[in-house]
Amino acid sequence: MLLMEFVRRCLDLAYPHKCALCGLLGLDSPCAVCISQMEERVNTWRDPHRTLDQVSYCYFYSGRAAQAVQRLKYSRSTSLAKWMANQMYKFHGHMVQENAIVIPVPIHWTRRNHRGFNQSDLLSEPFGDRVRSNYLKRTRSTPAQAGLSHEERLLNLDGAFSASKEVKGKSVFLIDDVVTSGGTAIECSKALKAQGALQVSVISFCGIT
Ligand SMILES: [Zn+2]
Repeated sequence: MLLMEFVRRCLDLAYPHKCALCGLLGLDSPCAVCISQMEERVNTWRDPHRTLDQVSYCYFYSGRAAQAVQRLKYSRSTSLAKWMANQMYKFHGHMVQENAIVIPVPIHWTRRNHRGFNQSDLLSEPFGDRVRSNYLKRTRSTPAQAGLSHEERLLNLDGAFSASKEVKGKSVFLIDDVVTSGGTAIECSKALKAQGALQVSVISFCGIT
């Protein structure tokens, strides 16, 4: 027991806890200062075409909140993932009814192999046994959306997802790190509704409106 405690203390000295955003040493990641710099935006908007029934997020996509999204995606920061997922659950978990299912927005398997994980899987963890990662697949690898016009984004994603028949009659909540134009979520929703999903909503960490 003493030996274990000794090993733990040595590890703490060698790898001290620090905020994944500003690098400040301490127990919390992200630290209270970084959290206070995020612009809380517990917003909900509706897609005018009703392909998406509801989009809800927690923070405006800028500054520390945008940095958190980037850090999570490019350097699997598990301390950040846990905090981000818990915020999403705390703000919006109550909307997920008893019989609804939760689906992380999938990335193509080639990207997953390259990155080693899908950030949306990590953000879905608080939803526990309601998560159905295998009900939606990305069937086509698409170039990154950044830098494309709205029309190019929609064309880029056309037919990129396929949904399982199991979604028929279900209310679905997609989980994503950030919703900007909504193009990805709308394509997911089309695939889910083509298989009979009743409603498709999105819960994400960040949004831009
Ligand atoms: Zn910090």
